[in-house]
Amino acid sequence: MKPENPVEPFKRAVTAAVRAIARDNELPVNFGAEGTATGAGRNRLPTPSRELGQEEVAHVRGSGDALALWHRHHDNRLHALNQPKGATARAVFEAAEQARVESIGSKRMIGVSDNLDAMLEERCRARGYASVKDPGEALLPEVVALLVRERLTGKDPPAAAKPMVEFIRPWVEEKAGDDLKNLTGNITDQNAFAKMTRKLIADLDLGDEDGTESDDLEDSPDNEEEEMAEGEGEGGEGESAGQAALTGQEKATEPSDAILAAVGSGAPSWPRESGLPVAEDGFIRVGPTQQVEGLPQILAAGDVARRTDVRVRHSGVHAVYAGPVLATNLRRLIAGRSDLATYSPFGKDFYLFNTCRGTSILSYGAFGLKARWLRRLKDWLDRRWIARFSGR
Ligand SMILES: Cc1cc2nc3c(=O)[nH]c(=O)nc-3n(C[C@H](O)[C@H](O)[C@H](O)COP(=O)(O)OP(=O)(O)OC[C@H]3O[C@@H](n4cnc5c(N)ncnc54)[C@H](O)[C@@H]3O)c2cc1C
Repeated sequence: MKPENPVEPFKRAVTAAVRAIARDNELPVNFGAEGTATGAGRNRLPTPSRELGQEEVAHVRGSGDALALWHRHHDNRLHALNQPKGATARAVFEAAEQARVESIGSKRMIGVSDNLDAMLEERCRARGYASVKDPGEALLPEVVALLVRERLTGKDPPAAAKPMVEFIRPWVEEKAGDDLKNLTGNITDQNAFAKMTRKLIADLDLGDEDGTESDDLEDSPDNEEEEMAEGEGEGGEGESAGQAALTGQEKATEPSDAILAAVGSGAPSWPRESGLPVAEDGFIRVGPTQQVEGLPQILAAGDVARRTDVRVRHSGVHAVYAGPVLATNLRRLIAGRSDLATYSPFGKDFYLFNTCRGTSILSYGAFGLKARWLRRLKDWLDRRWIARFSGR
């Protein structure tokens, strides 16, 4: 007889544990190469490899616990009754519910808590949240679920997901901070929790996230399928990809889906003409204190300057943050002080563009994302920024 694959006893043990936690001896538990699928109507766990490494064991157990808790504490009928219509709203609703059932298990059973943490770590790592590239629409539901989990269990988001969470947290907390707080009182009451989650979704203006928005230019189906082209960044070449046509100098026409022109920025002529030290491309050479190289009594910041020590792109973000450093240093120099402030640009450049079709495009380092909810986020960020100058 062929010896039994060592993975089989492990699968049987996990299946038994899942059924015990779920309190359902008949619960079908499947293992598949496609990985975990838990939640409404899904009960597949990842197939473990023969090696059965420690991390893998914890990941499969965590996935099993998540599946079991969903079956134990979740009522499909209540879920369907409360479920919102829009795709993003639904995804957020389901992610919050998964966070609820997992939090119940996490608070009651320490072993389950550890398994779920390991599964989450692994998921965040596997989805590449540390160097996010294209999590698509799953990003917001994931962040909301992590914030819900944090409220319900007091656990920080996994390290790999932290930058992504911290980026969206202020927006969620300002618009729906009270809803998040109120969720804690309803952890075992699915119906009340669902109603509170609906409120959270409404407060985040995601209620109509179903692909139609009356206040925007109409989206044709073609527009909906529009893919995001990867930008070339500053000074990059234009990119053409279908329906539009690009005619070159020799009158040759290239069919393309869209034409994206990225012209970069150029320096005015006056810095060079004035005799200030300029880089090859004509921008004024400055250091971290924004003082001009060799002329410490002169300072420059923003689009006209070129940092010589680090690469700082010409964008509003950097102009806005370097400006106050320049102002501080001007005052200190006039007062005869030498303790000058420095501007340290954060690692990645952050851009949010409205497409005028109800979506915004986010560009952050290597990460690009186009989504409707980003439009709300951009609106919130812009209003908050402008309010700082409104004199109120
Ligand atoms: C279409 C467009 C979209 C952009 N979108 C984004 C974005 O989404 N995110 C982002 O981060 N950045 C964006 N930027 C870049 C951003 O606007 C600039 O990086 C930022 O405004 C630079 O600020 P600054 O103060 O250095 O220069 P500016 O904002 O250009 O200010 C310089 C000022 O000096 C004045 N000036 C010039 N010469 C003289 C003179 N001789 N005498 C008196 N005044 C003078 C100009 O009129 C101007 O008001 C965008 C830029 C453009 C053009």
